[in-house]
Amino acid sequence: MRVGVIGGGQLARMMIPAAIELGVELRVLAEAEGMSAALAADRVGDYTDVETVLAFGRDVDVVTFDHEHVPQHVLRALVDAGVPVHPGPDALRFAQDKLLMRERLSELGLPVPDWARVETVAELDDFIADHGGEAVVKTPRGGYDGKGVRVVRSGAEAAEWFAVGDGGGGALLVEELVDFRRELAQLVARRPSGEIVAWPVVETVQVGGVCSEVIAPAPRSPGRLADVAADVAITIAEGLGVTGVLAVELFETTDDRVLVNELAMRPHNSGHWTMDGSTTSQFEQHLRAVLDLPLGGTGCHERWSVMVNVLGGPVSDALTDRYPEALVGHPTVKLHNYGKAPRPGRKVGHVTATGDDLDEVAYEARAAAAVFQD
Ligand code: ADP
Repeated sequence: MRVGVIGGGQLARMMIPAAIELGVELRVLAEAEGMSAALAADRVGDYTDVETVLAFGRDVDVVTFDHEHVPQHVLRALVDAGVPVHPGPDALRFAQDKLLMRERLSELGLPVPDWARVETVAELDDFIADHGGEAVVKTPRGGYDGKGVRVVRSGAEAAEWFAVGDGGGGALLVEELVDFRRELAQLVARRPSGEIVAWPVVETVQVGGVCSEVIAPAPRSPGRLADVAADVAITIAEGLGVTGVLAVELFETTDDRVLVNELAMRPHNSGHWTMDGSTTSQFEQHLRAVLDLPLGGTGCHERWSVMVNVLGGPVSDALTDRYPEALVGHPTVKLHNYGKAPRPGRKVGHVTATGDDLDEVAYEARAAAAVFQD
């Protein structure tokens, strides 16, 4: 069995050990030399080029992704050539375009923030006026880690984004500024033949638009909240025909509603804890799902798992230079190093601690991550 992954970042890298354990051959089409997944990258090429992607697809049993940026016409060329693609283009377009996603989730009757498609500064001003004088504006395509998301109090503050015309014809997504208590994420996996499994809902903590920490399961979530989150994600996976891992980012509002923020149709930062905290890691599950194999259990080894991202700090030492200091004090913490140059603010690794006492587990994970970031 041979799985081809388009994109050579850390998500593809973390599929490598899972593929080895399953005895699955992994091929990676990386966008540049020396990327995080270089160990499995047998090809470097442009994922927007049909010929490059078709040649890659012909050598594997299924094509999947570590990002959502492969253009629709390239995905369709693969499908037309008879290459299984998971998630397929019909599902993936909803993760590529936030306006399409909002439209479809509203059609499915799922809870989303109040939103509108706006094409002019005047339309944006109207929405802001109707929503208490502020709103969140988003570019429909290409945003990540909070880039392409802006809180505004007047349409003029997003004027230059209308001009960009980023493939969305200059239209922007505008949403109510949600008064949320915290952010959650629900991870599920679905096979092409329909089987679907859910991990426990988790709490995610964002700093400056970037995920910094994940607590699994989300504190105070068992019961109604866990059921609602799982139901929402399962409805989305089935309604959109998602195959592979689906991450649904959620807001828990101060008046106890759960609203869908974002979708990712691939392993996701909110699921990294599963590598050390769950029976089946999201990377193994993604491979099983895209190969249409029976899915693995989603239970937790211990009561709590806390994952903390390691970002490049002001000092540009390789993470390995810090090992003697970082590893000695934290023998129970698991480190995952993405092998990337630690530029400031860049996600270069993560650590996970597990155990019975949430305060201790969180302290351990934060302390270990901090040693890499001074
Ligand atoms: P990205 O695609 O860059 O991750 P998101 O749409 O997930 O962008 O938004 C990034 C962050 O901005 C969210 O995690 C959340 O903290 C904040 N945010 C996004 N939409 C809203 C909203 N409607 N109300 C309040 N905060 C929001």
